[in-house]
Amino acid sequence: MAKHSGKDRYQLFDAEGYDHMAYRAALKADLAVATPAGQLRIEYQPVANLDTGAIVGVEALVRWHHPTLGVLAPSEFITLAEDTGDIDAIGAWVLETATQQAAAWRRNLPGCADLWIAVNLSTFQLREPRNLDSINRILSDPATQADKVVLEVTETALASNVDGGITALKTLKALGVRIAIDDFGTGFSSLSTLAALPVDILKIDRSFLSSQQGSAPSTAMLEGILGLAHKLSLDVIAEGIEETEQLHLLRSLGCTMGQGYHLSRPGPAQKIEALLASPARFQPAPDSELEDAI
Ligand code: C2E
Ligand code: MG
Ligand code: MG
Ligand code: MG
Repeated sequence: MAKHSGKDRYQLFDAEGYDHMAYRAALKADLAVATPAGQLRIEYQPVANLDTGAIVGVEALVRWHHPTLGVLAPSEFITLAEDTGDIDAIGAWVLETATQQAAAWRRNLPGCADLWIAVNLSTFQLREPRNLDSINRILSDPATQADKVVLEVTETALASNVDGGITALKTLKALGVRIAIDDFGTGFSSLSTLAALPVDILKIDRSFLSSQQGSAPSTAMLEGILGLAHKLSLDVIAEGIEETEQLHLLRSLGCTMGQGYHLSRPGPAQKIEALLASPARFQPAPDSELEDAI
């Protein structure tokens, strides 16, 4: 294994009987330099107000442009980065880069003065008090405008470290950011825990849209989550809107924010900037196709 370098290393596991352990070991070594070597990129996915069609925020999604393997999705390296500890550097880089990009868009693009930026946090980032310092530093910079930042954490991730996680989130929330529970409905969520969390937004996992779409049970689940959010005075964002019918269903149930391929796929900054700058943006679309606008 150690004798192999560059592309050759990976050919070990390209073949049928590839070695998962060797693959992970090679990737781990590369991950250590990914951030300093400038191999990380962010794609931004718009979040729209489903009633007015306006883009209200964008979510930052990291990609790793690996020198030989090509573009890797977060599912291929975030867990690894949590194991190695590289998640600290990756997370800080994403937070800093994405919040600076959003600040530039607010400054430069007409009609975008209130645009917010959502950044995914790993709860591993909340475990290390030292690492919380770098998050604190970025969010305390007035240029960041913490009140235009949403930090997304998954309920499963929080469940494994409920008390520590809650304390850390409260510290961050005191800086003015909003907290969203990502992939809501797929994790533990004892409702009593939810009530204790310093949460502002629920992001409904896309499985609630895709499974038996439009069927009575899944509609009931959506209604239940929306009702719960309303009772707890939380905002709701629906994830994974892929079809017009899903959009109509959500709007009829009173869900006011959403994201998904039907509205816009995640894209590099220049591409999303063009969308933000276009006067039409998403059409305020009583029943017209939102994607016609893009
Ligand atoms: P997430 O935060 O729930 O992000 C939504 C994921 O769904 C993204 O995948 C996005 O590209 C995808 N998506 C958006 N709209 C649709 C749709 O209409 N249909 C379908 N099928 N998928 C859609 P992605 O970018 O691969 O990210 C996967 C997960 O990786 C994210 O899920 C998030 O948990 C994690 N992640 C991404 N960026 C970061 C990061 O910077 N730090 C950390 N810690 N985790 C990240
Ligand atoms: Mg997210
Ligand atoms: Mg999600
Ligand atoms: Mg997800």
